[in-house]
Amino acid sequence: MTDFRTDAWLQARLRTLWETYFRDAETGYPIHARFGVRARYRFGSISARQGVCLIRVNGLFAHPDVPEYVVDATLAHELAHYVHGYGSGLKKQHAHPHRGGVIEEEMARRGCLFLEERAEQWRRQQWQAFYAEQCRDRLARSGERRRRAEERWQAYFATPGFRSEAWLQERLQPLSAAFGLTAPPFRVAWLRATLRQKGVSYYFPREKTVRLHGLLADPRVPEAVLYYEIAYWLAYHQAGKEWERILTAMRKAGLSDTAQRAISWRSRAWSRALRSRHPLRTD
Ligand SMILES: [Zn+2]
Repeated sequence: MTDFRTDAWLQARLRTLWETYFRDAETGYPIHARFGVRARYRFGSISARQGVCLIRVNGLFAHPDVPEYVVDATLAHELAHYVHGYGSGLKKQHAHPHRGGVIEEEMARRGCLFLEERAEQWRRQQWQAFYAEQCRDRLARSGERRRRAEERWQAYFATPGFRSEAWLQERLQPLSAAFGLTAPPFRVAWLRATLRQKGVSYYFPREKTVRLHGLLADPRVPEAVLYYEIAYWLAYHQAGKEWERILTAMRKAGLSDTAQRAISWRSRAWSRALRSRHPLRTD
């Protein structure tokens, strides 16, 4: 059986670190250290509640395979926040908790930055594999979720009469020409949107692709909406992100009416479409 570290162990580590590196620091709220949820990117946090400071450490750090100095580095990092007035009730010393390397500076001054340096090295070499191993269940679940979402979208796009990606692609060329572009600066494709992605379209610069929300495949959405979304990104490419300049570029391309109709549809019907037609909605 694996012997996991306990909150009592964590509290004792905190006391030791305080005595070793923070002895001369001003004390504010009493500190409680706890292991929190398992997380991929967040190692620790500090907050205050009703006169008590709570330091939470990534629940995965309770595992004995995570070196003690990784836990120590996290605790020392949070203690540096504490002395800077975060979670401690003490006077705030910096407007921003991290900016300007103030945490590293504090740790260096107190002689405990080496903990962070060792921890950083371990995290760089081991963290990804450790996380994957520990959270296999979670990763499998999210893979499964993605697969199910993909299936639902596939079924949705296969609805008879729905617009295809080829349909989108065919509109791109003439629209680009309307902006005086000889070749389209991006591809267009559907966005198999999650429930959180509520935008009508998104530009993905790395893949040079504009993705229109999958709900726009439904022929009940006026064509003007699709033209406008593609035209918006063409104008954006041509004129920059300032709204006035985008509108001017649209006007020059003869798309003012299209824009009007699309914008009015969006304000009237988009949030309802998201609520009632989204293939990932189960209720
Ligand atoms: Zn921090």
